[in-house]
Amino acid sequence: MPLDPASLKAFLVERIGDAGVVDDPADLPRYTTDWAGDRRGEPLLVARPRTTDEVAAVVAHCHRHGIPMVPQGGHSGLVGGALPDAERPELVISLERLNRIRAIDPLNFTLSVDAGCVLQTVKDAAAEHDCDFPLSLGAQGSCQIGGNVATNAGGLNVLRHGMMRQLVLGLEVVLPDGRVWNAMHALHKDNRGYDLKQLFIGAEGTLGIVTGAVLKLSPRTHNTRTALVAVPDVNAAMALYGQARRSCCDLLSAFELIPRACLELAFEADPSLPDPLDSPYPVYVLLEVAASGPLDLDAMIEHLFETGMAAGQILDGVLAGSDTQAERLWQIRERMVEGQQLRGEHLRTDIALPISTLADFFTAASQLMADHSPDTTVIAYGHIGDGNLHFNLLPPAGLTLADKKALLHELETELFALVDDHHGSISAEHGIGRVKQAPYLAGLAPVERELLEGIKRLFDPEELMSPGRILPRRH
Ligand SMILES: Cc1cc2nc3c(=O)[nH]c(=O)nc-3n(C[C@H](O)[C@H](O)[C@H](O)COP(=O)(O)OP(=O)(O)OC[C@H]3O[C@@H](n4cnc5c(N)ncnc54)[C@H](O)[C@@H]3O)c2cc1C
Repeated sequence: MPLDPASLKAFLVERIGDAGVVDDPADLPRYTTDWAGDRRGEPLLVARPRTTDEVAAVVAHCHRHGIPMVPQGGHSGLVGGALPDAERPELVISLERLNRIRAIDPLNFTLSVDAGCVLQTVKDAAAEHDCDFPLSLGAQGSCQIGGNVATNAGGLNVLRHGMMRQLVLGLEVVLPDGRVWNAMHALHKDNRGYDLKQLFIGAEGTLGIVTGAVLKLSPRTHNTRTALVAVPDVNAAMALYGQARRSCCDLLSAFELIPRACLELAFEADPSLPDPLDSPYPVYVLLEVAASGPLDLDAMIEHLFETGMAAGQILDGVLAGSDTQAERLWQIRERMVEGQQLRGEHLRTDIALPISTLADFFTAASQLMADHSPDTTVIAYGHIGDGNLHFNLLPPAGLTLADKKALLHELETELFALVDDHHGSISAEHGIGRVKQAPYLAGLAPVERELLEGIKRLFDPEELMSPGRILPRRH
């Protein structure tokens, strides 16, 4: 029988101290409301352990008493995975106090950290040793390494450095019964049998709680150039991408699609942002080239401009002349996400496509939306150098909230069917959580589902760890 909150609290206070337990209603919203503020959960309590041993003790206790748990990082996930279940209350295990940098080895290009370290802190720690931890994303000031591991986070530099799967060398995990699996290896090559750590990366906390990670670093890029170019359409943007990767000696580290409508959203969020070019254009690409040594990147980008213009792929452009100018260009990318949020209820997607079919998909999806709901605004941008498109939809104003939700659900179904036709994925970055579960399950082959359920049963037969995320609860 599950314990009542009072005896759970007594155990927690004794084992991890007063400061390790949160139950004051005034402090709870931070753990129970997601980033967008539109979803809410009800926790049994919130536990904030400081060490791996404390996490293990809390988890073992929950396992003994049949108490469901959900690990929580920086709460920037967008699919409701870290929110406690409102119907069947769970103990939130927040990793925020497990936040030490454990060790750095600049010659091995590795950094060992506690899972609760905030991504920005980890990037700063790497920089102090002339290294980069190349994972970069809008939420890096709040998301944690454990959350990044659990969601296999990507971001702006995936085309050069890969996702978390490529950036994690070792892991430490507290399993759902409280045992600790310590595999904090700092090896760049390790071929001993099954690679268990990959099961936890992207598992969204359903197989255990990540408490530590060994991260792969790169040499620090001191030499970076950022440019914004106007292109005639998405086809031209993709052709330019192929050209840019080749002519920039594979030093291209970001390639972002920004249609004009997204620029307008950025201006709505921050009216002080200047229009980057003299006249407006339908589509822009924000690109970055980065090197760790003294290469002539200006010459490289100028050559790209010349060849792109001659091929009709580039109409106009600006190369940032200073770090401040580069930052202003990146502000457009960040502010447009905020501008979208200001427009209220909308559909956010994070789909992936083979890069070579992205332009075809973009045209087909835009047409599909125009046919089905001409008053819906398409806001489609993304890390197109990885084939990742945020094909988002703003419903027409004037509808009731219920009508907006119904329309967006209908359009999402149409959109995901098109993704399937193009052999894409309904999640490039944010994962499944609870929000994407129905379309995810619909796309699983029976054999795939059987294997996935078998893995969950093996690690967590009692279904106590993040139950109902990715796969539905069995009971
Ligand atoms: C403005 C903005 C921009 C974003 N941009 C990107 C982007 O470019 N690329 C991208 O991939 N994502 C992006 N995201 C999504 C989000 O930032 C990532 O998914 C991030 O990795 C989540 O980390 P977190 O610490 O906030 O995790 P949380 O939101 O706290 O949790 C996410 C999931 O991981 C689980 N979890 C958390 N910590 C642990 C742990 N220690 N052990 C086991 N499970 C754990 C939770 O239970 C939950 O299922 C963005 C989000 C925002 C708000």
